[in-house]
Amino acid sequence: MSNRTTQPKIIAVVNQKGGVGKTTTAINLAAALVEQGERVLIIDLDPQGNASTGLGIMPDQRELTTYELLLEGALIKDIVVKTNNPNLDIAPSTTDLSSADIQLASRERRSFILKNALSQQTVRDLGYQHVFIDCPPSLNLLTVNAMVASDSILVPLQSEYFALEGLSQLMLTYRDVRQTANPKLRIEGIVLTMFDRRNNLSLQVEADARSAMGELVFETRVPRNVRVSEAPSFAKPVLSFDPTSKGSIAYRALAQELLSRKVGQAA
Ligand code: ADP
Ligand code: MG
Repeated sequence: MSNRTTQPKIIAVVNQKGGVGKTTTAINLAAALVEQGERVLIIDLDPQGNASTGLGIMPDQRELTTYELLLEGALIKDIVVKTNNPNLDIAPSTTDLSSADIQLASRERRSFILKNALSQQTVRDLGYQHVFIDCPPSLNLLTVNAMVASDSILVPLQSEYFALEGLSQLMLTYRDVRQTANPKLRIEGIVLTMFDRRNNLSLQVEADARSAMGELVFETRVPRNVRVSEAPSFAKPVLSFDPTSKGSIAYRALAQELLSRKVGQAA
């Protein structure tokens, strides 16, 4: 059981590449922390709404969404919906959010819109210990809003060629946000996803990531596991769909590692 008096932690799950495991990591890390006794909120900031769908929130259940949160002044408490897991809630998104990037661009203090909607106080009042923001596959204004509103970023890195190339670009955006809008932003860690220990490429990406980013790379690697990819079509985290699968075990280990780290590092 986590200490309820500590500050809630807001973590942006970011990588401008699609299909690297952001949504899967947000959902399953959240589910693992719920198993530890926490209440957790996922904020779906991707117009594709995969986190919403993957947790069983159908489009017709998404009346108020992160679009209304960012652009129409809706309150977070009014857009949050419950999932099948009583301690795991989600602020859903729909394709409406795809126009938000352009619409936000003309707003004043356009990088701070999410931060203003999601103060520590608000999150604490709602009773969450962790919030995960599932970002779109882009370094656009939505992702920047997520980084400005967060305590840290968590970066899933798919164990494939070119994985590191995107990382340096992401780090530039991270440093830019720290310098201009959110000096307290930290790197929670980089997690290798869809890892295959029999594949030389996976091992090479791991070696490169560890030599470039050192201790920022989590010890835990999430293996490629078919149960992980099947779970969303059953509207469940893999932790409840198949609790003993390799994927579930890895996400539990990742949650333990996350909880045992003192503070994310600044890099
Ligand atoms: P992103 O949010 O970065 O676009 P997703 O989390 O949606 O990436 O993952 C992309 C695809 O890979 C999805 O079909 C997902 O089910 C699958 N996937 C993610 N992690 C794993 C894993 N560890 N093992 C097998 N498939 C995975
Ligand atoms: Mg996604």
